[in-house]
Amino acid sequence: PRQALRGVAGGVAGPRDLAALATLTGRDMLAPAALVRRARDTSTRRALAAAGFSEGFVERFFRPFLSGVFLEEDLATSSRFFHLVWRSMARGTICLPAAGVAAVPELLASALPPGTLALESPVTALTDDGVVVDGGREVAARAVVVASSPTVAAALLPGLPLPPYRTVTTYYHLTPRSPLREPTLVTDVRRRFTNSCVLTEVQPGHAPRGYALVATSVLGADTAGRERTLRDALAECYGTDTGGWELLTARTVAEALPAMEPGLPLSRRSRRAAG
Ligand SMILES: Cc1cc2nc3c(=O)[nH]c(=O)nc-3n(C[C@H](O)[C@H](O)[C@H](O)COP(=O)(O)OP(=O)(O)OC[C@H]3O[C@@H](n4cnc5c(N)ncnc54)[C@H](O)[C@@H]3O)c2cc1C
Repeated sequence: PRQALRGVAGGVAGPRDLAALATLTGRDMLAPAALVRRARDTSTRRALAAAGFSEGFVERFFRPFLSGVFLEEDLATSSRFFHLVWRSMARGTICLPAAGVAAVPELLASALPPGTLALESPVTALTDDGVVVDGGREVAARAVVVASSPTVAAALLPGLPLPPYRTVTTYYHLTPRSPLREPTLVTDVRRRFTNSCVLTEVQPGHAPRGYALVATSVLGADTAGRERTLRDALAECYGTDTGGWELLTARTVAEALPAMEPGLPLSRRSRRAAG
């Protein structure tokens, strides 16, 4: 948001929207998080209207940007959640590790005593004394914390209520020339993609020398012909011919984010049994 404030001052926002953006960002950044948590919950779209933003600015700025954060296009997500996300973005910095985002769990794991982590060992059942690993081996535990994907959590804990989940697909294209020589997130007011970024402008090591890597996300799955249409949209947005771009891979994450509608409890009791 801090960079966005400077960016939107360049033309997308009029004085009223700029003033509202400065007020909203300043308050979310400086007010205690408890205030945000206790605030009345509504949809993000209603909260933005109540904060004084014009419909045009919401459509040109907030909706395209937030659709890539919430993975939905209607700004129907809980305003409380929006303020907490906006607060984190305003107070923190955005980064992409040189070794990829896997560097984050690897860093956390490296601080643990040897033998603490067991990889490639899926838990297949919970027992009164611990867990069953890989359908056979029992491992005793004083307490079990289930922090898996939603489908696995629901299988391990029958009756666990699950919200609907949002799906996102990211297309990775290689091109010999960077279509935008800056580390900027490109959004699309015409809803053809949620965001696109030349990753090699953020981390040059993410592609072989002499190539640029472009990552573009769309809501939903990778359907037939979607990449072709996307290529045309990217040609228009980057102002370049994308016909020669090489599709490296398309990655779909089916359970990328739960739907977080107004009324969402930010925390709740989750103990299912003793231990
Ligand atoms: C495309 C995408 C982009 C994102 N971008 C951002 C971002 O920029 N910033 C941000 O803050 N968040 C981002 N997120 C969200 C972030 O990745 C998640 O919030 C975070 O990873 C959740 O962590 P977790 O530990 O709860 O779950 P996960 O990271 O999903 O970890 C669950 C773990 O459970 C393991 N597991 C599954 N089944 C079993 C089993 N049976 N037994 C044992 N283990 C099992 C899995 O192997 C996995 O390691 C993004 C998510 C997606 C999909």
